[in-house]
Amino acid sequence: MNGRDWQIGRILGIPIKVHVSWFLVFGFVTWSLSTGYLPETVPGLSIPRYWFMGGVAALLLFGSVLLHELGHSYVALRYRIPIEQITLFIFGGVAQMNREPPGPRAEFLIAIAGPIVSFVLGGLLFGLAAAAHAKPGLVALGSLLGFVNLNLGLFNLIPGFPLDGGRVLRAGLWAWSGDFYQATRHASVAGQGFGVLFALFGAVLVIGAALGSMPGPLAANGGWIVLIGLFLFAVARGSRRQAALRASLAKMVVGDLMVRDVVTVSPDLSVEEAVSQLFLRHGYGGFPVCEDGHVIGMVTIRDVQPPPQSLWPSRRVRDIMQPWSNAMEVTPDTPAITALEQMLREGQSRLAVVQDGLLVGLVTRSGISRFLQLRGLQR
Ligand code: ZN
Repeated sequence: MNGRDWQIGRILGIPIKVHVSWFLVFGFVTWSLSTGYLPETVPGLSIPRYWFMGGVAALLLFGSVLLHELGHSYVALRYRIPIEQITLFIFGGVAQMNREPPGPRAEFLIAIAGPIVSFVLGGLLFGLAAAAHAKPGLVALGSLLGFVNLNLGLFNLIPGFPLDGGRVLRAGLWAWSGDFYQATRHASVAGQGFGVLFALFGAVLVIGAALGSMPGPLAANGGWIVLIGLFLFAVARGSRRQAALRASLAKMVVGDLMVRDVVTVSPDLSVEEAVSQLFLRHGYGGFPVCEDGHVIGMVTIRDVQPPPQSLWPSRRVRDIMQPWSNAMEVTPDTPAITALEQMLREGQSRLAVVQDGLLVGLVTRSGISRFLQLRGLQR
């Protein structure tokens, strides 16, 4: 969705963005309210008045979706989970969280907060509509938006990940099994199942309308339901695959993934020799620097580049290497996922694997992603 989002402001410090596809919804909702629902429920007003009311209703609809997402975000922020942004797009809204919830309880409360906001809003709007019986315009808008919020809450409670109900299901499975990735996989399978059901149900409406056995307007609704079903299926499948990959990585330790025949470099080699004998010959991006069997640093292509080529014969590897630090090493028992996080955090592409003070291997970012790719191709 990047690059096509338009930031409209910030709430609770979170950037609020609108995707181009949302304008389609805005236009469609305004049009259908102004030419259909409003003239039918509140007859006798001028055409500009209907369009104005339709536009206001579409904006309030937008506000309803936003408040739902803010409900999730507020609880997430209380658990110190940063929210990257809230984006509104053709199928609703997404509050993009930068971290997984710390536990099932947090997951449950963050998930349920959105539908609770929608139900409370729905109740308030129905109350407003009941209180404003003397003003038919307000009654029409209040009951319409009340109905929309009620449905927003109900639809999101469908127990298929990544819908809110699916997150509640994941929280329950997570609490029960203690396995976050397995819970994500199972809740995502439920999401895929509901996606298929939706698509089939929508298709039945479209076909029924085409054959004349159901009213014509159902065809448009049916088409919309098919799209929502396919979207849900695709997102749920993506979540399931990602959880499976992360789970397989979580079970691996560095010792399973590391390169064992490590090419090391002596600190007294000149940069010119290092380039011709190591970088060009082996094609790796970096090498541990070893002296008397101990690792004293790491030299990478990035370190070779700054000195001009004319200085390469006189400079030593020792002069350009990154001196040793704990952030550069892991042990063979370190979980692979921890090693990957360490590389991302420290901006390293490779870590030395050290056991009892001796270099036993090298684990690289590209090695881990190759492993993930191979696993990805197998399923
Ligand atoms: Zn939600």
